[in-house]
Amino acid sequence: MDLKFIDTHCHVHFQAYNADMDEVVQRSLDAGVGMITVGTQSTTSKNGIALAEKYAGVWCTIGLHPNHLHAQEFFDDNELAPGQQVAPGDGPAHIKTRAERFDWDYYRELAKHPKVVAVGEFGLDYYRVPPGVDLEALKQDQKDQAREQLRFATEVNKPVVIHCRDAHADQAELIREEIARGGLARRGVIHCFTGTAEEAALYRELDFYVSFTGIVTFGKNVMEAARAVPLEQILIETDAPYLTPAPYRGKRNEPQFVKHIAQQIAELKGVSLEEVARVTTANAKQLFGLSF
Ligand SMILES: [Zn+2]
Ligand SMILES: [Zn+2]
Repeated sequence: MDLKFIDTHCHVHFQAYNADMDEVVQRSLDAGVGMITVGTQSTTSKNGIALAEKYAGVWCTIGLHPNHLHAQEFFDDNELAPGQQVAPGDGPAHIKTRAERFDWDYYRELAKHPKVVAVGEFGLDYYRVPPGVDLEALKQDQKDQAREQLRFATEVNKPVVIHCRDAHADQAELIREEIARGGLARRGVIHCFTGTAEEAALYRELDFYVSFTGIVTFGKNVMEAARAVPLEQILIETDAPYLTPAPYRGKRNEPQFVKHIAQQIAELKGVSLEEVARVTTANAKQLFGLSF
């Protein structure tokens, strides 16, 4: 298999691709782009495995995203199970979800599958606070659930994919705590990194990668951070169907667009696209233990 790039974080098994999932995956593989499709709750974690099973060059992760810890009005109909219908009412993305807790036994079964290469995405998101929820209680709850999943990753000996928004100090502390306990031998990545160069350095001390999305093609602060972070610490991802890079802003995202993120990082750093491809793909292989 000739894969030049790895999209280390996408959601190609989400409902946004119901009509053409196989074409999207095949198009990316044909373009030399392998991918890791990421679970966010019990259903999407299981569905990701089903897709990864079908293709060499597609891997998956399992975990519980912080936005799924509270019952809330759904803000993202992409995450509905395939074929799931939305009740008529306040618009297509408006349904209630139930709160989930991390279920060790359920995820332990999923983790046995050879295509599951990491635990995540999970972590801390202090940005999106559901209405009526106390911020301090939310933080505590997210920390508890993140700690559980860090320990779980240690138990199943897999790296972690961390979602972190407006919470880098607390997130780094949780990781430090688990490493101090003798855990996280495989380490992990802070996905969709939008922090500062200083925050990236914090993660470098912990031997963690940071991963850039399409935001690096249009976000000035993220460009600054990407310039400062050494290539040896960088992964690239689309987070598709979200965060479409320039020049495709406004269109649905897909894994093959990860090349535009690599191209932008090459320009920011003044190195060749080949160099970015070579190093970031080696980084992804190292972290996730991919063989191809
Ligand atoms: Zn995320
Ligand atoms: Zn994601």
